[in-house]
Amino acid sequence: MFSNPRGTKDILPDEIGYWHRIEKVAHQVFSAYNYQELRTPIFESTQLFERSIGNQTDIVEKEMYTFLDKGNRSLTLRPEGTAPVVRSYIQNGLHKQQQVSKLYYCGPMFRYERPQAGRYRQFHQIGVECLGSALPFADAETIALGVHLFDELGLSDLSVNINSVGCSVCRPVIEERLKQYLSSNLSALCEDCNARFESRPLRILDCKKPQCQPYFSAIPNIRDSLCQACNDHFSSLLEYLAELGIEFNINPRLVRGLDYYSRTTFEIISDKLGAQNAICGGGRYDTLVEKLGGPATPAVGFAFGVERAVIILRELEDALQTKAPNLFIAPLGENQRTKSFYILNELRRAGIQCEMDYTSGSLKAQLKQANRYRSEYTLIFGEEEAQREVAILKKMINGDQVEVPLDQLVDYLVKTINQQ
Ligand code: AMP
Repeated sequence: MFSNPRGTKDILPDEIGYWHRIEKVAHQVFSAYNYQELRTPIFESTQLFERSIGNQTDIVEKEMYTFLDKGNRSLTLRPEGTAPVVRSYIQNGLHKQQQVSKLYYCGPMFRYERPQAGRYRQFHQIGVECLGSALPFADAETIALGVHLFDELGLSDLSVNINSVGCSVCRPVIEERLKQYLSSNLSALCEDCNARFESRPLRILDCKKPQCQPYFSAIPNIRDSLCQACNDHFSSLLEYLAELGIEFNINPRLVRGLDYYSRTTFEIISDKLGAQNAICGGGRYDTLVEKLGGPATPAVGFAFGVERAVIILRELEDALQTKAPNLFIAPLGENQRTKSFYILNELRRAGIQCEMDYTSGSLKAQLKQANRYRSEYTLIFGEEEAQREVAILKKMINGDQVEVPLDQLVDYLVKTINQQ
């Protein structure tokens, strides 16, 4: 017997309803904000991720599924969606079509992480990228879009954490101040923090190890070190969010694990997710397009984890049952079964979700099966009904029955079932 690889999971029928709902709501909400879907390959050249995410990040150093293909090319299963979108945006000249491009994607991502609840090696992200606007309106709209999406899904008790990590002008100042502050306690910080101290001091703030936490309690406020332009951008963004009625917490430790972020970083977190509490993460990345060979293009985006959204929805709703067929056909006898098979086909083409018995069971067994499917109606079609050219429609919740002439069956069922 085989089992699925560690860190992956099967999405079983009792869960798939949540996935469909999340995808449907995402398509609807994104289209209200004028986003269009883009689908990119699941693997890309390894260099694309090295250059964009950054060589010294956890993702690139430890987590990529990288392999050589038979032509000796180094390819990587995509660990995230932004770099492929930007690659495609540049390669296909999307920047020439519109000043601002709004693109979204849905699909599997791959990271060799230590699996735990809400953390997988193959997981799914839905994300948006707004390319071409440097205005803080774009950041505000992106965050508002995330909040709107989760509201629409009925995900409650989420909070928005926000920060600014500055730009190439003020980042060195921010990093220097942080280093000064941490330097006297460096020996007490963990190995990872020490390794990051020289090359990526900001990433130290991401450390979750208990031993390091006391040393972060009074870190210098990043806002005090932002340049005027970054400070103005951040202030405007906070003002717009407040006007939009979006509550947020400024979290000066929110730096995120990918190198390409500049200015705004944000996360939407849930207290229903345990240790892996971020459902959505994103931010601005004003230099990435140029770094990947395109024209200088400011951009902002986010991605959320579908598995984590499903965990919260499940907890909220116990079980959103997979959609049951509205109608179950219970034929009795060979001829009736064959005729039912054709009726089934006709009803499905008329838009009725239906199923029939394929086991030649007794009426009792078939009604039991209809109940197991939780179908609203059962159509009983025995020899006697066939002779009179009728079928019996039974409402399962109260046992009410009506006879429907076969030649009116489709119309009758379409009317009855669509009225629900
Ligand atoms: P990131 O691309 O790291 O900014 O992550 C964005 C979102 O993707 C997170 O907030 C999670 O919801 C989801 N995510 C990231 N990594 C994983 C993972 N290994 N397993 C499940 N979901 C993940």
